[in-house]
Amino acid sequence: MPDVDVLFFQPAVGKQYGIISLGMLSLSAYLRKHAYDSRIAVLVDKNTEETVRTKIRQFNPKVACISLHWYIHSYEALKVAEAVKAESPETKVVIGGHTSTYFNKQILDFTSAIDLIVKGDGEKPLLDYVSTLDPERTENASFMKDGEFVSKPITYHQTSLENLSAANKDMNEMVDEWDHYLKTTRVRTSAPISSGKIVEKVSTKSSEFYLYVGKGCSYNCCFCGTSKTGSTRIFSRGVSIFRPVEDVVRDANLLSENGVESLFLDFGPFKDETYFQKLFAELKPLDVDLTFLPWNLPSNELISQVGESFRSFEIQISPDSGSERLRDKLCSQGFHKQFYTNNQLSKAVEKISEVGSPRGAQLFLWFICGLPFETEQDFQETVKLSLEMKKRYPQMFQNPQDQLECVPLRLTPGSPIDLFPKRFNMRRLRSSFKDYYDYCRDLGEGKIEHPLGLEREDLTESEIIKRAVEYKDAVTAV
Ligand code: SF4
Repeated sequence: MPDVDVLFFQPAVGKQYGIISLGMLSLSAYLRKHAYDSRIAVLVDKNTEETVRTKIRQFNPKVACISLHWYIHSYEALKVAEAVKAESPETKVVIGGHTSTYFNKQILDFTSAIDLIVKGDGEKPLLDYVSTLDPERTENASFMKDGEFVSKPITYHQTSLENLSAANKDMNEMVDEWDHYLKTTRVRTSAPISSGKIVEKVSTKSSEFYLYVGKGCSYNCCFCGTSKTGSTRIFSRGVSIFRPVEDVVRDANLLSENGVESLFLDFGPFKDETYFQKLFAELKPLDVDLTFLPWNLPSNELISQVGESFRSFEIQISPDSGSERLRDKLCSQGFHKQFYTNNQLSKAVEKISEVGSPRGAQLFLWFICGLPFETEQDFQETVKLSLEMKKRYPQMFQNPQDQLECVPLRLTPGSPIDLFPKRFNMRRLRSSFKDYYDYCRDLGEGKIEHPLGLEREDLTESEIIKRAVEYKDAVTAV
């Protein structure tokens, strides 16, 4: 086995594989294009330290990169960093992603196992570092020098995603133990929580893989860390950018040649659907399945196109609340995505059912309880809407307990609620990196003090969770 320049680690989610972050795939391909070899090792929480040490011995990298994009990895990512240094003190450890950018100073104060944090977009900065091993010559870098914290400004940010890739001709050269990874069930959600009956943990399908279509978001949902507000502060970019269709199609072809049979597409800050119309038409010859999470309501034309282009499909829509009043209020304050009525939602579901039912297509609807300004009546409207959908389209919800979800609102670093809690009548129960680190450590041990990390002035954490339990009971009742 040859040495590699860079070994990427994707931390575990609980006892399971997480999905490889799209950023890591893109970074790996970008380095490869510049003649630096790399591998992505995906971890499970069994003997993390021993696995990391084994991989370091196996690949002998100059640089180990760890994804700390989603806050759920706050504890695991540092455990991985410490294991790298324990095995090979001379290997440089780099972390990057949303959470590590947001807390860059606090993380470097917290541990000495990390040499560099790449803030914001990572392609060019990581290449700078891998080619020089000099943080001073690395854009967007934060690091410690002679015991002092150094934070370089974010001068590099992507304005286009042309000529990038998130796949490889032979995926074994990109992802360590690729076949095993692809066939193993992974946790799809970025932040599973478990609290009594509420377990938000959606698993991947067999042979499913993410398709990298774009990054960023121009919407500003109040609970979202990668909203316009969060992305502007963290990535210096408050808009969404799409990859060229031909690049995405090339990736999809490579993935299909490497055994991927189901594409997962979670991107869609669109009002204009022509991009997806074109993309789906060009993916048709692959004859694969699709799981599609459009961030707005898809039109009848787009739903028909999904039906024509894929073997089977699953669509996941997130109205977030069944109350038009609440959606309208959040939207008019600029803290939600595009507004649509429940009638428009019903018509879209009807179309999905018409196109998808004959081939067993499935639908997921995602709601959140405890949103700012949600009244008991708003919550009851969410329950009512969900029960109506289940009753009218039973064929679209084969497992309603998993496909009709109302998750309790949680705190995400960098979200508008995190930044301006008073504006939303919220109290934060976590604020520092250490708070997130402790939460993730306790999650693994099953003793979580604050599962949500927030509460409303008028609704405690446990009352928010109670709504989620009530919802679950309602949709699972016969
Ligand atoms: S649509 Fe809303 S939840 Fe989705 S990424 Fe954008 S801001 Fe976040």
